Amino acid sequence: MNTSDEPSGFAELGLRPELLGALASLGYEEPTPIQRETIPPLLKGRDLVGQAATGTGKTAAFALPILQRIPPRGERAEPIALILVPTRELAVQVSEAIYKYGRDLGARVVPIYGGQPIGRQLQALSQGVHVVVATPGRAMDHIARGTLPLANIQIVVLDEADEMLDMGFAEDIEEILKSTPDSRQTVMFSATLPPRINGIAKRHLRDPLKIQIGLGDTKPGKAPLVRQTAYIVQRSHKPAALGRILDIEAPTAAIIFCRTRTEVDQLTETMNGRGYRAEALHGGLTQESRDRVMGRLRAGTTELLVATDVAARGLDIDQLTHVVNYDVPSAPESYVHRIGRVGRAGREGTAITLAEPREQRLLGNIERLTKQKIAIEKVPTVADLRARQIELTLETLRESLQSDDLENYHGVVDALATEFDLRDVALAAIKLAHAATGAVIDEREIPDASQRMDRDRDKGRPDKGRPDKGRPDKGRPERGAMRDSGRFEGGETARLYVGAGRKDGVRPGDLVGAIANETNLSGREIGPIKVSEHFAIVGVPEGAIDTVIEALKRTTIKGKKATIRRYTE
Ligand code: AMP
Repeated sequence: MNTSDEPSGFAELGLRPELLGALASLGYEEPTPIQRETIPPLLKGRDLVGQAATGTGKTAAFALPILQRIPPRGERAEPIALILVPTRELAVQVSEAIYKYGRDLGARVVPIYGGQPIGRQLQALSQGVHVVVATPGRAMDHIARGTLPLANIQIVVLDEADEMLDMGFAEDIEEILKSTPDSRQTVMFSATLPPRINGIAKRHLRDPLKIQIGLGDTKPGKAPLVRQTAYIVQRSHKPAALGRILDIEAPTAAIIFCRTRTEVDQLTETMNGRGYRAEALHGGLTQESRDRVMGRLRAGTTELLVATDVAARGLDIDQLTHVVNYDVPSAPESYVHRIGRVGRAGREGTAITLAEPREQRLLGNIERLTKQKIAIEKVPTVADLRARQIELTLETLRESLQSDDLENYHGVVDALATEFDLRDVALAAIKLAHAATGAVIDEREIPDASQRMDRDRDKGRPDKGRPDKGRPDKGRPERGAMRDSGRFEGGETARLYVGAGRKDGVRPGDLVGAIANETNLSGREIGPIKVSEHFAIVGVPEGAIDTVIEALKRTTIKGKKATIRRYTE
């Protein structure tokens, strides 16, 4: 077990000490498979096409090699890396990750996306930055204004490339790549690899290394037979959701896997706060404290063990009834390995996975590889929990009636029977017995993100929450087909009139690109689109139409201001 403060797996990849320090303080214990495979070639300057979904650790896989090149402090910062992403959410998320990893290097990073006043971005750029994370449309604006210097760009990353193409950014991407130095390194990450992605790779990447993660690297059919369930919840609701799920499942002993040490510590505290006896197990513990924790779990004084993969290596615990994945594991092997800890020797076990809406694709990968179904269940409601608690009280009473010696209480019942109806006496006794179980109800409902997936899935990630997970990945449905239906799950579609059409060179992709770039709508939420000679009609969610109108009025379409209004027949 690694007991030093630095995650040794990362040191082996050849990263700078400042980065190792930052990773250690974030509680990363070892690289994920994609990081292990991509970081060394990226550090050597290789171009690369990586097929990887969100949740595999791909952001760090390209961010760390970029940060390795940050020049010493004191020099004026010039952009050395440009990362193109499909949505503003992702721009912010990737910038935050780079900021966290590059903290000890003084790395300066700025997200640039539509919908934010350009002034703030101009100011950040003029003060000097090392890394720019941009949506393609906004990057083009800055390039046209001469405010995004590209002369020193050493590396360009296209993150979620399939998504950017779906959103109509193909031309922008081509332009941007042409505007950066030929000597640059180019890296592309994409969840799927349709021919258009290979086209870009052929034109702009030099002998790229191809890396596939999460597909085909586990032998199928190896997963043990345990009950496998998953719940789709937003990150912020995870602690409450887990508490409620465990209240219903009532495990005898469970192990909860987290990604980082920091997460392990936080979750242990939260679960203790909810009345569970939880203990943390991570790579930072000495062998002695680790043995003590294990002893308490075996003795039943501890019921939840919160652990990282590294810390849980080699643990063999007979008592375990449940394995919980607090996040979807970054590789299917890891899932198989984790759930293998329950259901041994014919005993029954349950594996529970909490997934964020954007991580659903990873569940699909796991299902395909294990050839086993993971049932998506709804987070228990307050009513479910009440019913379950009553059921537990009922079981306790039944056991007591069958096995306890109740002789001493005859007098109490006889005395009460002279004053009250026997049924009322029983009711009062049950009420007290129920209260004595310590059942506490948290009255807040936890939103079920699987229902809201289509709308709330990370904007602009059409595939991530497809309810048809488990189906072989044959790429996504034809966009045209989707548009023709003119209906999107999760709400009414309103129509927008755009006073520019075919004569102005407008194509559907331009409209999707403009709207997605200026608002936080995803490509899939936009449509149907009909482009006529002089104007276009675009479907957008009713709830978003005012924002879209505002945003489009501030921008241009094909370089021109167009009339924008709600379309009514
Ligand atoms: P991504 O696939 O880049 O969206 O990353 C998914 C999540 O995994 C993020 O919350 C990261 O902070 C986390 N993560 C990435 N790499 C590691 C690692 N080596 N160990 C633990 N957590 C990680």
